[in-house]
Amino acid sequence: MHQPELMHMLKRLIEIPSVSSVSPSHDMGNRPLIDELAGWCEAGGFRVEVRHLEGVADKANLVASLGKGPGGLVLAGHTDTVPCDPHLWSQDPFQGVVRDDRLYGLGSCDMKSFLALALEAAAGFDPKDFRHPLVILATADEESSMRGARAIAEAGQPLGRQAVIGEPTNLRPVRMHKGILMEGIRVTGQAGHSSDPSLGNSALEGMHRVMGEVLAWRDELQARHRNPQFQVAVPTLNLGHIHGGDNPNRICGQCELHIDLRPLPGMEPDALRQTLTERVDKALQDTGLDHEVFRLIPGVPPMETPADSELVRVTEELTGHAAEAVAFGTEGPFLRQMDMDVVILGPGDIRQAHQPDEYLALDRIEPMLKILRGLIQRFCIHA
Ligand SMILES: [Zn+2]
Repeated sequence: MHQPELMHMLKRLIEIPSVSSVSPSHDMGNRPLIDELAGWCEAGGFRVEVRHLEGVADKANLVASLGKGPGGLVLAGHTDTVPCDPHLWSQDPFQGVVRDDRLYGLGSCDMKSFLALALEAAAGFDPKDFRHPLVILATADEESSMRGARAIAEAGQPLGRQAVIGEPTNLRPVRMHKGILMEGIRVTGQAGHSSDPSLGNSALEGMHRVMGEVLAWRDELQARHRNPQFQVAVPTLNLGHIHGGDNPNRICGQCELHIDLRPLPGMEPDALRQTLTERVDKALQDTGLDHEVFRLIPGVPPMETPADSELVRVTEELTGHAAEAVAFGTEGPFLRQMDMDVVILGPGDIRQAHQPDEYLALDRIEPMLKILRGLIQRFCIHA
């Protein structure tokens, strides 16, 4: 049995809904999609392993390998999509429709199509020629928690030496992105009647000090860290949400601030969290206010693969573009933790991702297949 032809695979992947979301009312499993993909991989001669995600029903990662040997090339993509607003689409988002030389459908660009393209590219090779295996990695929950990629990194079982993640990059290699941290700061004081300050301890006034300290820290971070390859060359820190108190005539008993921090490669998330805690401690010293710093999301580390690594050089050669830096986060840092070089390189355009009428331009397909075949040739056969 052979795997189905490419256009059938591309459309099927769109037809099988696999929305992931932090809001339970939108969240869906990806098992039906993983099972379909696993079937195609088996038909293409791959050894297939479906890894269930612990503690969540109906979600799994797929690891499919072709050929044997040490190291190997990993072609990775997430199987989930963001939720969509069907009423804003000019067609059913869960129908792969070809119109105006574009494939429309939810996940066409970001990034189900890449998985079908990886299979299609592999089909042209005889695995007996491989000195290093080719691995297709399909993950769950990239758009929500990155739980799938985290589970792969935690399992620690080596998958390969090089990994290409087919997120939408306009066929250009990307070797760097910033990280994403979202942290909460809660200050707790004592409510009381506003007419007598001695009756309470204002959490809002404490938060005022915290904000001053956090903004001073931001200035220091931006003075110390700069990478001109990024469009925004410095780490950013945004005060995004604050809530405290209820009435003008009550001393504010509790106040909470949510911040977003985007570190550059080389900045360590745990060290940043530690410093944030110390700065908040310092700001509230001698105020008698209680406080805690906590994570709003698990966070995504920044990613960097060295410019002189073989994978970066080969992807630059195959695409004709120098490797770039992007502003969005990916599963890359989790694969980097497994000692792989990682490049983000896919056929879609990020401007069409997470949008109504998401599409993949069909003229991106042949160049992407050519790049993938070049990668397989280089890292599974020649290397
Ligand atoms: Zn994506």
